[in-house]
Amino acid sequence: MQYTYQYAVIIGIDGMGNFNKDTDTPEMDRIFGSGAQTLSAISMYPTISAQNWGAMLLGANPEVHGLTNGIVSENEYTNGSLPSLFSKIRRAFPDALLCSYCNWNPINHGIIEHNADVEMRTSEDDAELCAMIEKCIEKKPKFLFIQFDEVDGAGHRYGYGTEGHLNQIKVTDGYVGRVYDAYVRAGIADDTLFTVIADHGGYLHGHGSYTDTEKYIYLAAAGKTVRKGNIPAARTKDINAIILHAFGLEVPPYDPLGYSAQVPANIFDGCGADYVDSPAGVKAPPHSPSPEITGGNGLLKFFDKEDMSLAAFFDNSLDDELGKTDLYAEGTVKYYSEGVRGSRAEIGSIGTLKADNFRFENGFAAALWIIKDTPVTSFVPVMKFSGKEKSSSLSLGMTPEGLRLILSSENGNSEEFETPLPSDTAKDKIHLIVSVNPQDESVNVYVDFTHIFSVRYITGYSFADYSADFSLGDRGANYLLNVDDLFIFGRNIETEEMNKFKNYYSIV
Ligand SMILES: [Zn+2]
Repeated sequence: MQYTYQYAVIIGIDGMGNFNKDTDTPEMDRIFGSGAQTLSAISMYPTISAQNWGAMLLGANPEVHGLTNGIVSENEYTNGSLPSLFSKIRRAFPDALLCSYCNWNPINHGIIEHNADVEMRTSEDDAELCAMIEKCIEKKPKFLFIQFDEVDGAGHRYGYGTEGHLNQIKVTDGYVGRVYDAYVRAGIADDTLFTVIADHGGYLHGHGSYTDTEKYIYLAAAGKTVRKGNIPAARTKDINAIILHAFGLEVPPYDPLGYSAQVPANIFDGCGADYVDSPAGVKAPPHSPSPEITGGNGLLKFFDKEDMSLAAFFDNSLDDELGKTDLYAEGTVKYYSEGVRGSRAEIGSIGTLKADNFRFENGFAAALWIIKDTPVTSFVPVMKFSGKEKSSSLSLGMTPEGLRLILSSENGNSEEFETPLPSDTAKDKIHLIVSVNPQDESVNVYVDFTHIFSVRYITGYSFADYSADFSLGDRGANYLLNVDDLFIFGRNIETEEMNKFKNYYSIV
């Protein structure tokens, strides 16, 4: 029996963590029951998709590859000093069929080189993707990378570990069985290395931090040379070395500042004994939750409940802490652990948040944190108040240079005002306030609690006795918008009040 494999497949299950232990997975049991498995492999920190799919396909720590969800959504992967697994296999097998079939297309777009002649396919429907994969396997791909995404979607929607999440794991287990059976039908199962891996788990409705249910993941391998038993230690990134080894390719030496994937022990005979049990990622900072609104340093110590229409902390929900307004998502909202306080919400190209039928008698304002992991390269819509019954609208967005305010009047006039951001504005997060004062017919914009911009709107705009629908983010836009702490006030905000915000956020 030859030591190396003719074929290999990675079946990636986004957001499964090791929750498969809590439900029935007859297909994975059938395929991997006689293989090597672990429920305590470890996700790289932070426990987020791009950081971990990046670690797997590049064989490097997240702080080395530097990829984030925003970066891989917007940029093609071109880092020649850190070639992907596909490029390495391509170099060794110039004519081989290499395929990547992903529901979450940013993997194809932003983690795999586009010059490695990889057949890339995507579908935002796991069932449809699975049917495409079955067809693909008929062509006997040398290497096939698969990412199913709906388990993570169910975790974000229903909560990780809940019935809705576990049911989706069961459904996906069926897809794993169909993939395996397609290899059997193609007549190549005996010479294929099968692997299943999750990128991270989750906690409540989100992930990103390093609690046990976020960081522990399932990893399994099955194939002609795989030992039966438990894998003692592994990281997500190690799948890279497992595949190289299976193809008989050189696994580069462990380098925490470069390629650092290793073949874990107890998968292949005579391999992995020198596994370096590298630090379990960066120690996560403790969750610093959003303070209770009525607590000592809570929101209502600084602002009057009567003045506010909405306070959303995005801590695993869209709940309005004031209980006044129904904020809802069109498309998807995903929660990640590192907000300004508590969790943040990822929207924008994946979803729009909406709240309907605000009624502002004498001005209004909105305050929001934006957390940025990629530069703004074109106009990004942030928030919009759309006046009802043909009355005026106001929207605020980001441009590469700064901010753009757009006012539209009831009689069809529209005006745009641009302002640069102050040069000392942090690149990774900014606090925005837009405030409308119908008394002096002004719109004021504050960045990081400093007034930067004021416009007097011309006659024809009307924001007094104002009825409007509100939206945050825009799923038609090509930008993942990460936000935290949306507060909407039913009055204008004065410059003198900036200390209240500073104190609330303890930035003095
Ligand atoms: Zn993920």
